Amino acid sequence: MDPLGPTPADGAPGRIDGSVAGPDQPRPARPVEPAEADPGVAAGVVIVGGGFGGLYTALALAAERHHPPVLLVEPQEHFLFLPLLYELLSGELRSWEIAPRYDSLLAGRGVAWLQDRVQRVDLTARCLHTEAGRRIPWQRLVLATGASTDTFGIPGADSHSLSFRSLADVQRLQDLLHHLAGSGHPLQRLAVVGGGPSGVELACKLADLTAGKAVVELIEQGDTLLPSSRSFNHEQAQLSLQRRDVRVRTRTQVVEVGSDRLLVRRMPEGEQELVPVQGVIWTAGQRCRPPRISPEVSADARGRLPCGPDLRLRGHDSVFVVGDLAAVPQADPTPNLSLPTTAQVAFQQAPVVAANLLRSLRGEPLQEFHWNDLGEMLSLGKGEAAVTGAGITLAGPAAFQVRRLAYLARLPRLSIQVKAVAGWLAALSP
Ligand SMILES: Cc1cc2nc3c(=O)[nH]c(=O)nc-3n(C[C@H](O)[C@H](O)[C@H](O)COP(=O)(O)OP(=O)(O)OC[C@H]3O[C@@H](n4cnc5c(N)ncnc54)[C@H](O)[C@@H]3O)c2cc1C
Repeated sequence: MDPLGPTPADGAPGRIDGSVAGPDQPRPARPVEPAEADPGVAAGVVIVGGGFGGLYTALALAAERHHPPVLLVEPQEHFLFLPLLYELLSGELRSWEIAPRYDSLLAGRGVAWLQDRVQRVDLTARCLHTEAGRRIPWQRLVLATGASTDTFGIPGADSHSLSFRSLADVQRLQDLLHHLAGSGHPLQRLAVVGGGPSGVELACKLADLTAGKAVVELIEQGDTLLPSSRSFNHEQAQLSLQRRDVRVRTRTQVVEVGSDRLLVRRMPEGEQELVPVQGVIWTAGQRCRPPRISPEVSADARGRLPCGPDLRLRGHDSVFVVGDLAAVPQADPTPNLSLPTTAQVAFQQAPVVAANLLRSLRGEPLQEFHWNDLGEMLSLGKGEAAVTGAGITLAGPAAFQVRRLAYLARLPRLSIQVKAVAGWLAALSP
């Protein structure tokens, strides 16, 4: 069972026609200047954002024997396999395994990478404007800029809490844990805000990493943790939190975040409490903040862009959206709900976007995206996890290994997969 779906040999989510890329396709992959790529780009595909949606779309296109020029615009140097960020924090995985560099990922794949950030998308002129002042025309555009942490304007949350979405966030949190370990402060308390998968997974890891030297609080304003998780995973998460003495507060709202305390309100009573803390990590809420688009496109409450079932931006046939940014109506029974914002969905959308890009360039009808819900895997502390999907449920160390292997096999390049799996096998052997 693998929640991200089937994978061909090269790690890309399925070459559009299913066959594997031939060896005779050596191509350069290094940061390029638009001038250098310009002759091709205007007649090609530009992808904005190199996360699960953008990178895997680029790789699926590159796996095609005959594909148009592809330019990936991404400001970061490293791709980030976000589902394994907890294992980087705990040291169970190394950064080369979950954060490979774009230049090594794209070397020889026929995809040009521009290390820049897009600031404006001009739909009328069909061109992008970047932070570095470049103007990039496109024939087909893919918007895949993902989401970022949303603190809902709660006072002090931006300045006094850590987020958990980037390599820098992991470093900051590791520095905090190191500082706390050295401080000898008798009653340390770390608060994780948000009882969704990220909050629960992080709270379990932190409880293991602080090994009883700190109280880990998990604060959720809703009635329950993990409202959209499978019941087995939900149960396993509760057990894991209990075993690690994580203090769970549901129906509790964070009113203000200070440098050394949290002001919380218990619902529905409304009673407030000041909670002294040495660190706050904010995992509650995310929001899409794509580059400015002109003419303006109306986004949903979370900043997601309205798409058709073929993943095209509504009203703009030359623009596709993939991943967290795409508000795609779910098929029945819940057409009013958009697809969940997960790597699983982005990973499955990528080959469909790639196929539709080529079809639209050839003037052929496009295919619809249908999400195949493959279940859920949760990291629940060091060496432990819960897995539900394909009719099986698994918890504990065995689930941890299944999750690890399933994700390592999804890494965006065969050579990295092989190295990572070899490391995994080595770690397994006595
Ligand atoms: C800690 C954590 C754990 C998670 N665990 C899981 C899990 O176990 N299973 C699961 O299915 N999902 C998980 N997710 C969710 C999953 O990671 C996202 O749904 C997925 O990454 C979405 O892919 P994306 O391509 O839309 O965005 P991202 O992967 O976030 O990529 C967006 C990319 O766009 C780039 N970008 C942003 N703005 C611009 C710009 N203006 N110009 C150019 N580039 C730009 C960014 O640098 C980034 O590389 C997790 C998320 C987090 C944060």
